[in-house]
Amino acid sequence: MNILFVTSEAYPLIKTGGLADVSGALPKAVQALPQFSGSIRVLIPGYNAVFSKLQNAREVARLIVFGQHCNLVLGKMPDSDLEVIAIQNTFLYERNGGPYNDSLGHDWLDNPLRFAVLSRIASILAGTNSPLPDWKPDLVHCNDWQTGLAPAYMKLVDHSPAKSILSIHNIAFQGNFHPGWLHTLALPVNSFQINGLEYYGQISFLKAGVFYADKLSTVSPTYAKEIQTEAYGFGMQGLLKSRADDLVGILNGIDSNEWNPEKDTHLRKHYSSVKLDGKKTIKANLQKHLGLHVDADAPILGVVSRLTHQKGLDLLPGIMPELVKAGCQFAILGSGEKPLESAFNDMAQRFPSQVSMTNGYHEHLSHNIMAGADMFIMPSRFEPCGLNQLYGLAYGTPPIVTRTGGLADSVCDTNESSLKHHTATGFVLENVSELSLLVTIQRALSVWKDKPTWKNIQINGMKQDLSWGTRAVSYLALYNNTLGQHSEKLAQLMLV
Ligand code: ADP
Repeated sequence: MNILFVTSEAYPLIKTGGLADVSGALPKAVQALPQFSGSIRVLIPGYNAVFSKLQNAREVARLIVFGQHCNLVLGKMPDSDLEVIAIQNTFLYERNGGPYNDSLGHDWLDNPLRFAVLSRIASILAGTNSPLPDWKPDLVHCNDWQTGLAPAYMKLVDHSPAKSILSIHNIAFQGNFHPGWLHTLALPVNSFQINGLEYYGQISFLKAGVFYADKLSTVSPTYAKEIQTEAYGFGMQGLLKSRADDLVGILNGIDSNEWNPEKDTHLRKHYSSVKLDGKKTIKANLQKHLGLHVDADAPILGVVSRLTHQKGLDLLPGIMPELVKAGCQFAILGSGEKPLESAFNDMAQRFPSQVSMTNGYHEHLSHNIMAGADMFIMPSRFEPCGLNQLYGLAYGTPPIVTRTGGLADSVCDTNESSLKHHTATGFVLENVSELSLLVTIQRALSVWKDKPTWKNIQINGMKQDLSWGTRAVSYLALYNNTLGQHSEKLAQLMLV
């Protein structure tokens, strides 16, 4: 079984969010399964960051797509055997800025072309005229809107014998563009209709994938159900409902080489569920580093996040003064919506010894907040899976979350019954509101004062198997199912 895993970001080559974490870890985990006989290659645009990190890179093919001369460069992920094909095109991908937007945060205007090229090359590699005849995928695993046109090209243009899967990591991002792109992107005119890739008068890359892929997956069982409803489907609920039998939700795992308090290279001390002491030292170092008052008895509430409406962090500034008064400290890391950045900056200025706000993207600090904080705040309005709450569980930093998507599937609220059954791992809000967030944090603070109970909650989370190993087994079953190699109903693969 050869699998082409198509993605617009993969850690450690390039990362803006959870998609990169999944793309860096899942293919490796499938490849490592003893029951997997085949090979996986990751296909990714050749951004500058990708070429600066790709190992043993060599050009293996050249092709012209939509008038763009592209070189395919085969290499390996750093410190891994996983093979990567990077698409080299200076004009499209080698720019200063992010994968999707310029340094001011504006989307690149030619994103439709940039990601149609990615999708079309995936389809060509799976077609009968592939420039890599020695390695042909049986299955193309697409991820998010950036790769959504690949199943359409495979079915409509290249008539590929391979099968396709689209994984939805966040349905809010759909890649909807002006229909004028239809011609440039060589999409058949008759595909621009409701039974095709048309979406409210636009071309939708995501809808193309949802419509044309053989199977669909998303990143948690709850989100798989939620996206079939009006409240969470962002307009795609009807189509997803009609494809419910082809849709599965598999909760993401975490890369236990990267996110593991026993060996995390970003931490100066290590700890585990049987020996938690190191966490105290990391907390003190974090307080020192962030200019917070060094005090073991002050609970640190951590935030590492994109600062957007989705993440619900706009509920936090209004209740911070009360929590500061109660002795809490805040370690906040993130960037995004300017008013929210300003609100947190204001709090940091008002309460310098208790609130720290770091603007930007810092891998090293994110690990230290995850380890040094006492609790992790994640009140998302919707959350396909969410990785930070999983990191919080693994690091003995119980998450405080809303009951949605992957948060609902991974965090078990602390109450009498869950404490008794050793299943309590965090705190779940009743609803998405300032009041509910305040009440839930206060509830967590009162349990935090009861050290033995708190330790039990930490240990419950740390002991869970959050690794990709078991998730990879579900993906392999999904791959087999898509290839018709066994006929289990997809619903049986749902995994929490
Ligand atoms: P999303 O993909 O919606 O942003 P996830 O929780 O699935 O949310 O994944 C976010 C990933 O990005 C995590 O690995 C998180 O640690 C990381 N991250 C988010 N913001 C920052 C930041 N400012 N600095 C460092 N890492 C960040």
